[in-house]
Amino acid sequence: MHIPFENSYARLPDRFYARLDPEPVAAPKLIRVNDALARDLGIDPDALASPDGVAVLAGNCVPSGAEPMALAYAGHQFGHFVPQLGDGRANLLGEVVGRDGIRRDIQLKGSGPTPFSRRGDGRAALGPVLREYLVSEAMAALGIPTTRALAAVSTGESVWRETMQPGAVLTRVAASHIRVGTFQYLAARGDEAGLRLLAEYAIARHYPDAASAADPFRAFLDGVVGRQADLVARWLLVGFIHGVMNTDNCAISGETIDYGPCAFMEAYHPGTVFSSIDHHGRYAYGNQPRIVLWNLTRLAECLIPLLAGGEESAKEALTAFASRFEASYLGGLRRKIGLLTEQPGDDDLTGDWLKLMAADGADFTLTFRRLCAAAEDAAVEAPFKDAAAYDAWAVRWRARLAAEVAPAATMRATNPAFIPRNHLVEAAIAAAVERADYAPFEELLRVLSRPYDDDPTFERYTLPAREEERVLQTFCGT
Ligand code: AMP
Ligand code: MG
Repeated sequence: MHIPFENSYARLPDRFYARLDPEPVAAPKLIRVNDALARDLGIDPDALASPDGVAVLAGNCVPSGAEPMALAYAGHQFGHFVPQLGDGRANLLGEVVGRDGIRRDIQLKGSGPTPFSRRGDGRAALGPVLREYLVSEAMAALGIPTTRALAAVSTGESVWRETMQPGAVLTRVAASHIRVGTFQYLAARGDEAGLRLLAEYAIARHYPDAASAADPFRAFLDGVVGRQADLVARWLLVGFIHGVMNTDNCAISGETIDYGPCAFMEAYHPGTVFSSIDHHGRYAYGNQPRIVLWNLTRLAECLIPLLAGGEESAKEALTAFASRFEASYLGGLRRKIGLLTEQPGDDDLTGDWLKLMAADGADFTLTFRRLCAAAEDAAVEAPFKDAAAYDAWAVRWRARLAAEVAPAATMRATNPAFIPRNHLVEAAIAAAVERADYAPFEELLRVLSRPYDDDPTFERYTLPAREEERVLQTFCGT
């Protein structure tokens, strides 16, 4: 099994991680290899699917060139600082440089205990592995920066999560696994030399332009602020709720990372929460921008000793968040109703549309998608229940649309038909976990890979859950 590893994190000081091999499992069996992603990474997908490849994906065999390690990090969990978290059930095998020239981590998740496991078993259950596979690949297909799923294998072992569950390992690919919490880990130890090394490493890997700025560390902070502001705007625009945006789940690269109790909102409401452990709505749909800024503030605090302008410079960098977020979010909302150009009054138009949807309890994804048809043909029926309210709004909208070229095409490329609806994800997981039937998982994955293309064969996948199918809560599954 040849993987063209080219490792760089392993050259950083050994206090940044713990070197150890993944822990072998009893009876590894391939669930799926992501062929296209493997090829993009310069890895032969057939070799990955072979018995030797499956042994690697399960952690039973360490391929040549790998330098397995668990990364150290800290983090604020629900606002409370934990000075040491780290990869408690993940193992970074190494990095590969893909065909696009981008360096990416290849990590096994669920690969056994590490020095950072605390009381955990180091393992992952099949359900959460399939969930991360589906949702991260759906996000990638939606065009949203995210970690990817390269493969999933079952382990032939059981894990205990309130009940016995089949175990599995996910192979995750990420631009890197450096988190806000990685900086916090070093800052909490007063390790300024380490902080500087980590920041220099992150600049070289993710923000190379910052290296030539007057203050590279400030330019780095600006870069992370910008990417995170864009990212959370993109989440809101597709109704994604991360569910557990602790600082250790906030990637410096600007990718979405750590799919736990995440969910897509159905009926539009800013206060929507699914996670069973988010009792106060800290990570509610509409609260996410505020929380991202909170996380970035923790990053900025860590960087103060490195910044030429100290605390003032950190504060200045954070003030840019609001305008960057607004530009991304409002621009995205305008495109969702077909507006590529910007005119005074546009944001009232999008804002009023959201208010109407909230009052109507309209399905966020389906209603925007139905509006695409309405942009083409004024005679189509109202996209939600309150037709009178819609008609009044649509008069203003149509008058404004007249100034746009091909707005329906803009809308169809912006408003997905297919998202990983919670009940579909749950059904695919249940079939796999209860009956070892992976057909629903495979079909859902296929549908989610082309989210913007109408496909009448899969119309049921575009519909919100029926009352009896509705998922009210999601779980961490750890
Ligand atoms: P997460 O909620 O997945 O972001 O994980 C938060 C922290 O708990 C990280 O340090 C994980 O490595 C650790 N963790 C989660 N699940 C397990 C597990 N089953 N065994 C050991 N550590 C775990
Ligand atoms: Mg995490």
